[in-house]
Amino acid sequence: MIEGIKFVNEVNLKSKRVFIRTDFNVPLKNGVLQDTTRIDEAISTVNYAKKEGAKVILASHLGRPKGKIVPELSLKPVADYLSKNYSRTAFISDITGKAVKAKVNEMKPGDVILLENLRFHPGEEKNDPSFARDLSELCDVYINDAFGSCHRAHASVDGLARLKKDKAAGFLLKRELEYFDMILSNPKRPFYVVLGGAKVSDKIGVIEALLDKADKIFIGGAMAYTFLYASGVNVGKSLVEKDHIETVRKITDKAKKNNVAMLLPVDHVCSEEFNGDPVYVESRDIPENLMGLDIGGKTADLFKREIADAKIIMWNGPMGVFESDKYSRGTFEIATFIAELDAISIVGGGDSVSAIKKAGVADKISHVSTGGGASLELLENSTLVGIEALKS
Ligand code: AMP
Repeated sequence: MIEGIKFVNEVNLKSKRVFIRTDFNVPLKNGVLQDTTRIDEAISTVNYAKKEGAKVILASHLGRPKGKIVPELSLKPVADYLSKNYSRTAFISDITGKAVKAKVNEMKPGDVILLENLRFHPGEEKNDPSFARDLSELCDVYINDAFGSCHRAHASVDGLARLKKDKAAGFLLKRELEYFDMILSNPKRPFYVVLGGAKVSDKIGVIEALLDKADKIFIGGAMAYTFLYASGVNVGKSLVEKDHIETVRKITDKAKKNNVAMLLPVDHVCSEEFNGDPVYVESRDIPENLMGLDIGGKTADLFKREIADAKIIMWNGPMGVFESDKYSRGTFEIATFIAELDAISIVGGGDSVSAIKKAGVADKISHVSTGGGASLELLENSTLVGIEALKS
């Protein structure tokens, strides 16, 4: 997956106009940045390009303006933050056109500019060739450092990259690719996967792909109930995706054929309603009037016992409704256990990442991925649009 990709330190940036596709899609409230992690993480590539004497053109999307100018989704606060905390970053309140070109032409080596939100232009999400060409005219070198956008065939990820001869992955993307490559090509054994979250339908493709790679798959969260239901267990009022029962049965059959152990909850923390009082259910079966909202203590112990000898472990999706203290125990127990393991640990997906942060163990995880959707798609297809565009 990684062969054929150059990294930013392998291309000549000196005095070049270098377009860096970053991920500055940060939470904003009334123009105030709520979490700057993504900006802070992008700095290593930006600083490197500056040091090499590049004229740095930063570009990102923010939110979903759907091809229209939405002032609340302007990237101006990001430019202000960069100027205040790192180095002077000139904000350009446009993306393409004469004025932008003129500004870029005035740049000196080491200068940094940030373009306006790429998604203000309808051509970005449509991967419009003429928008990609306009972006291409602004730069000599293309760097992609936005893993979380690499599964999207958008102009700044795909069309633009394909137009440039000199292109590479930034340091953030490099790290993501190196870790996922550890899973995709000949992983260390045993390799285990823990999956949870709301919908099995979102993760069917990934589970199928992982059945060819993993040694064990642990399933918690709401998606476990579709698996339990499909195998004839009473799940009461738990979330079940009835349209996917057949697929889930096929997955279970494939797991048996491939000799991949699939572990499901054996007890549960339930409630009569979504936010009701917790009721512990000691058995695999759940009474008619209850719904499962977290894995129970026996399940957490079972999962921990079975995970303990992992050499590499990947986790995506909470074990229960972890947003509520009443149903967060399973998720935090598994998060902490994975963090303490003497193994390579990779965590992806917004909810699992926020769970490991809340549990205070993020710094013990080998790799916390910045892209939930992108990481699932990468595991499913072994590549992404943005990765292929860098190889083209
Ligand atoms: P996902 O985005 O698919 O990873 O799903 C994350 C969401 O799944 C979180 O908001 C959890 O609250 C929710 N979730 C996890 N377990 C359950 C469950 N047993 N019942 C309902 N929702 C759940």
